[in-house]
Amino acid sequence: MYDVIVVGARCAGSPLAMLLARKGHRVLVVDRSTFPSDTVSTHYMHQVGVARLKEWGLLDKLVATGVTPIRRLNFSYTGITLRGFAEVEGIDEVYAPRRTVLDNLLVDAARAAGAEVIEGFTVTGLLWQDGRVCGVKGTVADGSEQEFRASFVVGADGRNSTVGDLVDAEYHTVRPASCFVYYSYYDGLDWEFHHWTGFDKQQFGAWPTNDNQHLVTVMRPLDRFAEFRTDVDANFQQVFDQIMPEFGAQLRDNGKRTEQLRSMRYPDNYYRRSAGPGWALVGDAGYHKDPFTGWGISDALVYGEVLADQLHAGLSGEQPIDAAVREYERIRDERSTDTFNFTCMISELKAPPFYETVFRAASASELGLTQFFRLIGGGLHGKEFFAPEHLDTLYTAAGTPAGERMYSADES
Ligand SMILES: Cc1cc2nc3c(=O)[nH]c(=O)nc-3n(C[C@H](O)[C@H](O)[C@H](O)COP(=O)(O)OP(=O)(O)OC[C@H]3O[C@@H](n4cnc5c(N)ncnc54)[C@H](O)[C@@H]3O)c2cc1C
Repeated sequence: MYDVIVVGARCAGSPLAMLLARKGHRVLVVDRSTFPSDTVSTHYMHQVGVARLKEWGLLDKLVATGVTPIRRLNFSYTGITLRGFAEVEGIDEVYAPRRTVLDNLLVDAARAAGAEVIEGFTVTGLLWQDGRVCGVKGTVADGSEQEFRASFVVGADGRNSTVGDLVDAEYHTVRPASCFVYYSYYDGLDWEFHHWTGFDKQQFGAWPTNDNQHLVTVMRPLDRFAEFRTDVDANFQQVFDQIMPEFGAQLRDNGKRTEQLRSMRYPDNYYRRSAGPGWALVGDAGYHKDPFTGWGISDALVYGEVLADQLHAGLSGEQPIDAAVREYERIRDERSTDTFNFTCMISELKAPPFYETVFRAASASELGLTQFFRLIGGGLHGKEFFAPEHLDTLYTAAGTPAGERMYSADES
């Protein structure tokens, strides 16, 4: 009998298991994957995500993998360019580690903390007692079935969460997806972090990762997917050529793709009910948004820690466990709403005039750039950044005339 079973051992599941095991709880983590292994995901981490790794004593291990540090960000949104970086929570450089590297490091950390990890185990059902979830059943690689019991079960099993489906967790605040993505890994580039959205709804991203390679990615709206697929290589290259011809030339002349291009049509953005009797959902299982803003991994770490604290409060008898876990969901929803809404808006690849006015002002002063990059790194809440008084300080620093200042997306 375990205290907690966690289903899914990547960036949401393993840190949760590690934190609970460090607090002395008996934890089992199962995953149908084996590690190290890749998953379809690019992997930029924000300062607040990196700060979690530092606090947990894992940052030195990540740095030791040779992942290239990122100390300057270059964003451009339909002609408005912002370059810079802001220290947040003492983090003055960030990373985009390969998932083969990051997830494996997290699984190892869970094991080192004392959690039991079973790889290659697919959860197919839940065990119930008196209306509460009290365990999981599933199959191992040879097809044989096993059951494990626990006081609490957490689904950290990503989008289309099996645990979420088995408890019939309701989806809410669903917003339609905007984009599809193609990405791969390249030798021969020496670029900083770049994230450029051009006219005609096209975007490219590129940033350094492990092995002196760059991850290079292109996003376009879903309604262009069929057309894009007719000649993926040419259309991938064309996005660079059209947004930044000099980067297009460097990609063509110097970039050597070392892996196949991967693609994904993004699923819709959503929240999912994430707390119930004997169960919780964490990471993408309970809250997913477009990867445009690169918040999935950092949020999985941040809210995984919140859930660990709340579960600990329940398991140690400080609070009834179900109430403690409902509080996790409330905190997550409250703190993540700004990121969710901003992500849904900006991933449409065409911001309403309000946001363009704000970005233009932010790009025009040191203060504006600092505040913008604090927002991007998780050091400033959307509510604070977009508050009218704060916008006024940015407009004043940029010399934006009173008649051009905008204070709300409703004015757009
Ligand atoms: C194209 C793309 C690009 C992205 N780029 C970024 C980025 O740059 N930065 C960023 O922060 N985020 C990015 N994201 C989002 C990020 O990938 C996710 O937010 C993150 O992986 C969520 O972590 P998770 O642990 O919740 O789920 P996952 O990483 O999906 O892990 C879930 C785990 O659960 C296991 N599992 C599932 N079902 C079962 C079952 N029935 N039994 C046992 N195990 C099971 C799976 O094998 C898997 O290992 C991107 C996503 C995509 C698709």
